[in-house]
Amino acid sequence: MGDIDLHAHTTVSDGTLTPSELVRHAKAQGLVALAITDHDHVGALQEARKVAAPLGIDIITGVELSVGSDAGEFHLLGFLFDDTEPQLLARLAALRTDREQRAARIVGRLVDLGVPITLAHVEAQLPPGDPAARSIGRPHIARALMVAGHVDSIQEAFDKYLGNGQPAHVPKEKLSTTEALALIHRAGGVAVMAHPITVDETHRDALIASLAKAGLDGLEVNHAKHDPEARAHFARLAKQHGLIPTGGSDFHGANKPDVELGRGVNGNVRVTTEVLDALRRRKAERQAQHPPGQ
Ligand code: AMP
Ligand code: ZN
Ligand code: FE
Ligand code: FE
Repeated sequence: MGDIDLHAHTTVSDGTLTPSELVRHAKAQGLVALAITDHDHVGALQEARKVAAPLGIDIITGVELSVGSDAGEFHLLGFLFDDTEPQLLARLAALRTDREQRAARIVGRLVDLGVPITLAHVEAQLPPGDPAARSIGRPHIARALMVAGHVDSIQEAFDKYLGNGQPAHVPKEKLSTTEALALIHRAGGVAVMAHPITVDETHRDALIASLAKAGLDGLEVNHAKHDPEARAHFARLAKQHGLIPTGGSDFHGANKPDVELGRGVNGNVRVTTEVLDALRRRKAERQAQHPPGQ
């Protein structure tokens, strides 16, 4: 048994550590396995696996998808899938094209609001090279606003401009629940609802019940944003619906400065290999029921 983290972002999406840096950080934190779950991109995995192999760290294939539902947006983590599966890769690429267009619209809104920012400022927050190798998101724009001196922190950029309901917020394309689950399952993976606390409480528990019926495999019970009461609540729901209770820090490096990899906020997240074993068993059960290619 050892410590792991099942939720972390790199510079491929809105984290601030490169895939190599993230893996070295995982080693320094004493982790034996790490799932990389960039938003709408699997491009960090290859580099991460190369760096991780000699360090004895197990890199778990992952991704984080944004899903639109009647209960509002929620995030879905995919794990242990084939990251070369063509349908999945094509859909992720299309979602990222939408993200690029949305970023330009957000910048337009900011300019209209009297905040002199350009796409070049945002571009400076992204890794150099091929735009197809990145997944642009609001944190890049938040950081550009901070660097240009328009806000003092990433959080202030969200609170004033970019957060849901704020004046420069532009929604992005979201998958339907059915499509998101199918994308992950067809690629041989398992699907876990991320940080359920972010869903409006009125609809949340009903959403979890309906997702469980639709084939959801797990629930991220152990998340830095969940207080002990929320964890107890989601653990109960997971048990009730036959979902694997998972956990992860949702590490974003300097974009979420209070969250540490493998630790969460002030050590409030700890996940062990037992959770990974449960996800692997679930994947094997799925494959026994639906052998690949059938
Ligand atoms: P996007 O995928 O472009 O919509 O951006 C989502 C990212 O922005 C996630 O990593 C969130 O953690 C972060 N984010 C969303 N809303 C907020 C908020 N109100 N404050 C801080 N970060 C946020
Ligand atoms: Zn993120
Ligand atoms: Fe998320
Ligand atoms: Fe995340």
